[in-house]
Amino acid sequence: MSFEKLGVMKQLLGAINDLGYKNPTTVQTRAIPLVLAKSDIFATAQTGTGKTAAFGLPMIQRLRANTQDENREIRGVILSPTRELSMQIYEDMKNFAKYMDLSIALLVGGKDIESQQKILKKGVDIVIATPGRMLEHAEANLSLKSVEIFVLDEADRMLDMGFVKEIRKIHPLFPKRHQTLLFSATYSEKVRKLSKLLLTKPAFIEAAKKNTTVDTINQKVYLVDRERKAELLAYIIGSRNYRQVLVFTKTKASADELVIELKKDGLKCGIIHGDKTQANRSKTLAQFKEEKIRVLVATDIASRGLDIEHLPYVINYELPSIPEDYIHRVGRTGRAGRNGEAISLIDIYEKYDIKEVEKLIGQKIPQETVKGFEPDPTIRRKDIEDVKLKSEHKKQEKKHVKKKAPKKVTAKSLKVTKKKRKTTKRD
Ligand code: AMP
Repeated sequence: MSFEKLGVMKQLLGAINDLGYKNPTTVQTRAIPLVLAKSDIFATAQTGTGKTAAFGLPMIQRLRANTQDENREIRGVILSPTRELSMQIYEDMKNFAKYMDLSIALLVGGKDIESQQKILKKGVDIVIATPGRMLEHAEANLSLKSVEIFVLDEADRMLDMGFVKEIRKIHPLFPKRHQTLLFSATYSEKVRKLSKLLLTKPAFIEAAKKNTTVDTINQKVYLVDRERKAELLAYIIGSRNYRQVLVFTKTKASADELVIELKKDGLKCGIIHGDKTQANRSKTLAQFKEEKIRVLVATDIASRGLDIEHLPYVINYELPSIPEDYIHRVGRTGRAGRNGEAISLIDIYEKYDIKEVEKLIGQKIPQETVKGFEPDPTIRRKDIEDVKLKSEHKKQEKKHVKKKAPKKVTAKSLKVTKKKRKTTKRD
């Protein structure tokens, strides 16, 4: 299949050629003709499948400008959950539209709203926005009544981040008849419900099997004690001479701590998380892309928009709180058919979490140890004893306080409760 056969117009073919895309990916092959035919779509496509071009190319083709009138109104809206992802989509869209007369604007938080309003005043065809900032503009009287195409990207993440309120407020501002393209990396009941609200007779596209990681990623788990994780991480990066590695932590605090440790080992590190300013995040990402920084430590939110060519290694320093985030994290490597490696450093307390991940992706991830970093067996023994003790204690309590139908306490359920309490607010 070629882009031309899918009905992509000449100016876009030129831009695709400049980007070096030879053939369309699966999601592009399925989505492009449907979007051109004005159908609503519901696509489950993983990160790295080429989904931006799947909605971006036909959207640009449908909305190609026939006027440069200052009074023209926005006809295309792309909502994405994070600033980084929005910026990435904006760059892609500008590249796709480079031989066309379309004006595209980026509306994200962390940037001055007045300067965005000035750009909008000049007349814009397509906006790429985060939901909060889109709503701010709408509430400041930006008209959305001429919108013809609405794209909701990474819908699952939008819902995880609690953007449903914003989406519910923005959606009624569009005219009744418009085309909606919903993309989600994973499929869940919540996403299905949202799709019922937004889509009319959608065509379904499943670019990859539900909740699976990309085939080209080699995944493995290294078992290690919590206190030795930073040391093992530095050892892996150093001994294997990794030049560019993305490392995920669960919280901002552990990202900060890890960077201090890695710097002690002489590794050049950068950090991206919710407390960093937009300018700082962009600068760090640029330095990482240019390989001026060898290790980029990030939290889950920051992970969404990171599109780095040929990123070969992703390391989970800690597993995410939500199993679905594992898929998003490891999707940063092995993009567009290239090979990649995803390593998870797992301590005894994360054994339950990795099982949840395996259940979600429907495959076992091989577990190994690194020589010299084998977990201390006494920690495991102590942990089991701890759980046993707590379980005994609960049994005693139950004997004394006879409450109605108390839940059976098992070592497993105790561990789950403990995990839940440990979960820190995601950033
Ligand atoms: P996305 O899933 O949209 O984030 O795209 C993942 C990566 O694949 C990006 O670096 C794109 O530039 C690249 N890409 C998208 N479509 C193609 C294609 N048809 N051929 C080669 N690379 C592509």
